[in-house]
Amino acid sequence: SLDPSSLVAFEDAAAGHDGILSDSTGDLFIKPCTPAEIAFYESSLASHPSFAALMPTFMGTLRLGSPDQTLAAQASTSGVTPGTAASLPLSDPGLSRGKKLDTQTAIVLENVAAGFSRPNIMDLKLGARLWDEDAPPEKRARLDKIAAETTSSSLGFRVAGMRVWQGAREGGQAKDAKGEGGDDGYKVYDKMYGRKFTADNVKEAFWEYLRSSRTGVDEGLAIGLIKGFRLAKRFHDDVSAIEECLEQQESRMISASILFVYEGDPTTRNQAWAAAQESPRFQPGAQAEVDSEVNFDRQGETDNHGSSDGDDDDDDDDDNASPKLSVTKMIDFAHAKWTPGLGPDENVLQGVRSIRKILLEIFIALFKQWKEQL
Ligand code: ADP
Ligand code: MN
Repeated sequence: SLDPSSLVAFEDAAAGHDGILSDSTGDLFIKPCTPAEIAFYESSLASHPSFAALMPTFMGTLRLGSPDQTLAAQASTSGVTPGTAASLPLSDPGLSRGKKLDTQTAIVLENVAAGFSRPNIMDLKLGARLWDEDAPPEKRARLDKIAAETTSSSLGFRVAGMRVWQGAREGGQAKDAKGEGGDDGYKVYDKMYGRKFTADNVKEAFWEYLRSSRTGVDEGLAIGLIKGFRLAKRFHDDVSAIEECLEQQESRMISASILFVYEGDPTTRNQAWAAAQESPRFQPGAQAEVDSEVNFDRQGETDNHGSSDGDDDDDDDDDNASPKLSVTKMIDFAHAKWTPGLGPDENVLQGVRSIRKILLEIFIALFKQWKEQL
């Protein structure tokens, strides 16, 4: 269970406001938020299950600095039955100190970067129109100007931020005991990075984000290319599923994002590829040709799935999970609502389609490069 006094700063944000927290295990993402965002999670779980599956798991809410200081865990993957409310005393009264929170309430979500050894993260902010109905004229004008100067207006999305693992840096310093300072080998691309792209060159940001997926441990160019192809294809398929879901729903989401995560550590990533090859997702008929021509990941595969060699930490079934390769989620629903009767959210869908098309072009390019290597 969660020890509320052990909350720490969240390290894996690619964009957004300060003040995000995590717990000691790193499994939770705790963000100060508006009641609207909590309401959107609750209504999605209650009445839009297909979209809820595309969101991080909603674990509950946390009241920051409120008199009763309770954690209401309304749904949890760690044993709390959805629908029941469990209250824990929040023993750290200084939780919100030093943070400029607009709100007393935080949302508690699954940390979608948990379970990765070195999560590479990309946040793509969706929509050409980025202001809500209640935004004052100055805010509308400011956001419209940013949209006009970026790919937000032309493509319906822009790169909000990225974090990409570079490997241990030469001369890099480890973080101190508090997890501060140091140079942990991540390259951080802030919000200004994504604003400089145009519709013609924003694909470069995707190449930049995906580049390290093609470098492995003792692997040749061809194997790197096919792995890069497969990762881009996975993200493409995820975005395609988001597109299909949104086309069938009636919603308005202002300034929501698509969040990509993939494993940045080459050794862990190889283990994840080996595990992924065994999962159903990895075996569609359309990929049979590729599968038969290259079995790049069999070489390093150890059979750690079927048999128990006694080394497993078997006191928690959830810990048997294989290393993760990639995850795609929709996030950031501060200005999102279900709007029956209004039809699909074309503002968001324009961006989703642009992203899918870019990923399609990238995986085709990688496939061609791989063919040329044979
Ligand atoms: P903001 O309203 O500040 O933009 P977001 O919900 O977009 O807040 O979150 C900020 C950043 O935190 C995102 O760019 C993303 O990198 C990260 N993030 C958001 N939700 C999660 C989550 N559930 N798990 C892991 N990281 C997340
Ligand atoms: Mn955001």
